[in-house]
Amino acid sequence: MKLHCFGATQEVTGSCFLIENQNKKILVDCGLIQGRAIDEKRNYEALPFVAKEIDVVILTHAHIDHSGRLPILIKNGFSGKIISHPATIDLCDIMLRDTGFLNEKEVETLNRKRERKGLDYREPLYTVKDAINTMQFFSPLPYDKIEEILPNVKIRFLDAGHILGSAIVEMWLSEGGVTRKVVFSGDLGRQGLPILKDPTFVKNADVVIMESTYGDRNIQPWKETIKEFSQIIEEALSSKGNILIPAFAVGRSQEILYSLFVNYDKLPLQNTYIFLDSPMAIEATKVYTKHWQLYDKATKELIKTSGSPYQLPNLRLTVDTEQSMAINQIKQGAIIIAGSGMCEGGRIRHHLKHNIWRKQCHLLFVGYQAQGTLGRTLIDGASEIRLWGERMRVAAKIHSINGFSAHADQETLLKWYGHFESSPALILVHGEISALSTLQNEIYQKFTVHPWIPKYKDSYDLIKKQPISED
Ligand SMILES: [Zn+2]
Repeated sequence: MKLHCFGATQEVTGSCFLIENQNKKILVDCGLIQGRAIDEKRNYEALPFVAKEIDVVILTHAHIDHSGRLPILIKNGFSGKIISHPATIDLCDIMLRDTGFLNEKEVETLNRKRERKGLDYREPLYTVKDAINTMQFFSPLPYDKIEEILPNVKIRFLDAGHILGSAIVEMWLSEGGVTRKVVFSGDLGRQGLPILKDPTFVKNADVVIMESTYGDRNIQPWKETIKEFSQIIEEALSSKGNILIPAFAVGRSQEILYSLFVNYDKLPLQNTYIFLDSPMAIEATKVYTKHWQLYDKATKELIKTSGSPYQLPNLRLTVDTEQSMAINQIKQGAIIIAGSGMCEGGRIRHHLKHNIWRKQCHLLFVGYQAQGTLGRTLIDGASEIRLWGERMRVAAKIHSINGFSAHADQETLLKWYGHFESSPALILVHGEISALSTLQNEIYQKFTVHPWIPKYKDSYDLIKKQPISED
């Protein structure tokens, strides 16, 4: 009974863990490495295990850094089930296709350059067709239901409150008369955020594998976040320009619509034009609406009294490119939500071109901006940027709100681990080294447990509850 760490070790993307129990192999997540180009290159390397030998995959949630290598797994011969929450299946259908499309586009551009240099063509990591093919392997499992997925292996999903369908995985493994309960936190959500429920607490475990994204910091509570958000929108509306909100399609776009909805009369927003200018966000919103029964109590109440928080009277969903381009005619009073969240691609770049040089306009960041992205450049105060080779001054006012994050902060992580009885063995993953070591120290101070921080390809003996040394 072993755990092998094949991803999200001392980094935040590429989640992938392999469990061996008797002669069976279970993969938990199979995510893409995302971020700097040098890191993303690793996605092209061979998988660190034999895909054909995997019996079953458990997918915690739809984010690409957890699901994005599933099409590669299938291309390499995996033919078992991918077990995930029904909402995760619906979101993966959108997100994997989108990633396939981006892969194809990226290689197309690269190959044009290579052709001019007389070099041979490159193949995309996977295509839209590969992504579509992946969907037939999915098998739904709702929350709170114990299922025997293999002989001597049972699992149960609990709501992780991170994105729609996100799951904590409880896993019971038996081998040679010994049973161990292993709990994967998956990505844990925040407490007190609207729409989704808070992450579920778990009582018992022998070994816990916990994410640590914000292991070294706390995040502003929702109450303050929504206040800050409405103040910025109010200020922006009074300056008679447009407001651009770059947002991730899944989760964040829905939270922004919700935030506008609850402030609709107060701001007021009656005389604005609100655009959700992202086909993917529009699709994701449909999935959120379909699975409304997963919402928290307050959001369900809100729907009962006021209707869907995604149906603002003056909201336009712009699917076609022509509709999107027509927004450029509007010089004031438009609130435009568009991707990509870090301004690295997508329609937001067109809106930046038409608005960034105008001092009446406002740009509001509501998500993390990675080093080296256009979003980060703008937050860092660049006075000019380049778009399609054209130099543009930055005159619009730039705002950034951190309180929308979908990851548990240090306080929540400590609270979540603290709910386990008898301090189980703890493995910290999915975090930068500074977040991991700060959290490791905090946990030691609070619970006198010394968490293990694995490196890539490290293994752990789940029966002895200790790392397996290399020699
Ligand atoms: Zn995630």
